[in-house]
Amino acid sequence: RFRAIVVDRETDAAGKPRLTSTLRELSSTDLRTGDAAPDAAGTVELAVSYSSLNYKDGLAVAGKPGVTRNYPIVAGIDVVGTVVGSTDDRWAAGDRVLLNGGGLSETRHGGYTERAVIPGASLVRVPAPLTDRQAAAIGTAGFTAMLSVLALERHGVSPADGPVLVTGASGGVGSVAISLLARAGFEVTAVTGRAADNGEYLRSLGAAELLDRDELAEAGKPLQSQRWAAAIDSVGGVPLANMLAQVQYGGVVAACGLAASADLPTTVMPFILRAVSLVGINSVEAPLPLREQAWARLATDLDLGQLDAMTTEIGLADVFAAADDILAGRTRGRTVVAIGGR
Ligand code: NAP
Repeated sequence: RFRAIVVDRETDAAGKPRLTSTLRELSSTDLRTGDAAPDAAGTVELAVSYSSLNYKDGLAVAGKPGVTRNYPIVAGIDVVGTVVGSTDDRWAAGDRVLLNGGGLSETRHGGYTERAVIPGASLVRVPAPLTDRQAAAIGTAGFTAMLSVLALERHGVSPADGPVLVTGASGGVGSVAISLLARAGFEVTAVTGRAADNGEYLRSLGAAELLDRDELAEAGKPLQSQRWAAAIDSVGGVPLANMLAQVQYGGVVAACGLAASADLPTTVMPFILRAVSLVGINSVEAPLPLREQAWARLATDLDLGQLDAMTTEIGLADVFAAADDILAGRTRGRTVVAIGGR
């Protein structure tokens, strides 16, 4: 038997569904039931070493709707561990592997568990020189930051084009995006609501300038002064509309989050008068070749000293309090959940 954080759906006295999460013991048979789609290529059993905490994990563990879809389900959208058994030819005992998204904690059991059974087809090998802890510290948030940087590259953005804006700067996606962009030679402007507390931290990651979140919070004109070559946005809403209005001719905005809002109150003006591109980023269903490309780049491009410095470690029992913290905007950088160690 082993420990896992499980989300259940119950019905309250008024007949309304309610989601609850608990740390409890499971057995291997529990893991093999409830998965939406048995995988044709085979499954892999993992001794889990680490998971991590993302905004979405906060939602799931706090019992908010919208993440988990089958019940009972193990929470945790990231998993890192060592293969202990496999019915998939690609994997053998001893391989170190990871998965971000891919249905974890949504339609199939996730990573907040000592043991996991995962479809082999979606796993990625932990690339050298990353430790399991570093791979979890990158997690979905860092993987999403890398997917966003790759999107900027596909649009031909280079450091000579001008400054790049990163919103949600103190968060997981924002912190890794700043670190990656600064190391690649971009001049990064970090948008934060916590400059007083986190200004020094953001500069240590490579932010050249800080911009207060409030400066993008009010609805503005459809076209404003052209300030940015590109932007990586994890907040959405009015700030995203303002970014689109401030990106220079031919620039690109990678939209990956909704920390402020799921709305997008914009016009077509930035698109038709400035040839601005808005690119969507989705980590959950990224195809395997893109996953492998992003992880290969993370292993070579990310400053691991900065990654370690932005990482906080907690245990499974601490996840409940940490979930409240991330939803309240109190966390900084990345949080890893140590499960089996390594
Ligand atoms: P996180 O660590 O909580 O970071 C979010 C950051 O956004 C906060 O640290 C805060 O930074 C800023 N923020 C919070 N509330 C805000 C508000 N009301 N208005 C403006 N800024 C606000 O979360 P994360 O894990 O990095 O995820 C960030 C977002 O990306 C979430 O919406 C998440 O769901 C999304 N996401 C999407 C994908 C995908 O596949 N598309 C993958 C991962 C994450 P400051 O304090 O510095 O302002």
